[in-house]
Amino acid sequence: MPALASPLIHLEAAIILAIIAALSLKLKLLDLKGVTASIAIGYVIIVLGGLNYFAILLAFFIISSIVTRLRVKAVGELHIDKDWVRGWRNVLANGLAPMLAILIPRILSCDERIMAAGYLGAVGTAFADTLATEIGLFYRGKPRLITSLEKVEKGTPGAVSPYGYLGCIIALIILGALAWILGAASPKLALMLIPAGVIGTTIDSLLGAGIQGKYKCRECGRIVENPHHCGQQAQYLSGLTRINTHMVNLISTILGALILAALTALL
Ligand SMILES: [Zn+2]
Repeated sequence: MPALASPLIHLEAAIILAIIAALSLKLKLLDLKGVTASIAIGYVIIVLGGLNYFAILLAFFIISSIVTRLRVKAVGELHIDKDWVRGWRNVLANGLAPMLAILIPRILSCDERIMAAGYLGAVGTAFADTLATEIGLFYRGKPRLITSLEKVEKGTPGAVSPYGYLGCIIALIILGALAWILGAASPKLALMLIPAGVIGTTIDSLLGAGIQGKYKCRECGRIVENPHHCGQQAQYLSGLTRINTHMVNLISTILGALILAALTALL
C-alpha cells in the first residue's frame, strides 16, 4: 500500500477535498449534505487508493455536471428535478460502490488488478448510466421500455434509446482512456471496461423497468421515478416504493464492479 506509506497523503487529501467542496458549493453542483458525503468518499479513495483513482471519480463528477448544465440549456429540466439529483442520496448512489471497491480489496489485501477492475467497473457503470440519461434526453424520438420494447415518454424508468447507448459507450471510452493515462488501468482493463459498463447500464435499465417504484404525476400525467412531480405528490403506479432511482444506481454500480472484477480474475 504505497499510498498509506506517506502521512502527507492525509494532508493532500484534506487540501484537495476542501478546495473541491468549496467549489462545488459555490457552483451549486452539490448541496451541503452532498458535499459532506463526497468528502467522506473522496477521503477513503485518496488515502487507500491514491490520487489517480480519485482523479477518475472527479472526472466523472465534472463531466457529468457540465453535460447536465448543457442539457438543461438545450432541452430544459424535463423530468429531472434539480433537488432530487444533487443531494447526498445521489452522491451515495454513485460514489458508495467505488469507495467500497477500494476499501474491501485493501482490507482483504487483494491483488491491485482486481481492486482497479472493481473500481473502474463501479465508476464506469455510474458514468455510463449518467451520460446515457443525459444524451438520451437529446433523442428526438420516443425511447422504448427495455423489457416490453413499447414506446414510452422520456424519463420513464427503464426507457432506452440509441442516443442513450451512444452516451453510455462515449462515457466508457473516456473513462477507460483516462484510467489508462493515469496508470490505473492496463490497456486490456480499459477495453474490458466497455462491455462491463454496457452490461452494468443495461442492468440499471432492467431494474428501472422492473422493480423500481413508478409514479404517475397528477399534474402532467407522466410516469416518473420521483414520488413528487410538478410540485406535488404523484400517484403510486407500480414497483417497490423502497427501490428508487438511487437504490437502482447503487445496485447496478455494485454489480458493475463485480462483473469487471470477475472478468479480470478470469481472463
Ligand atoms: Zn408532472
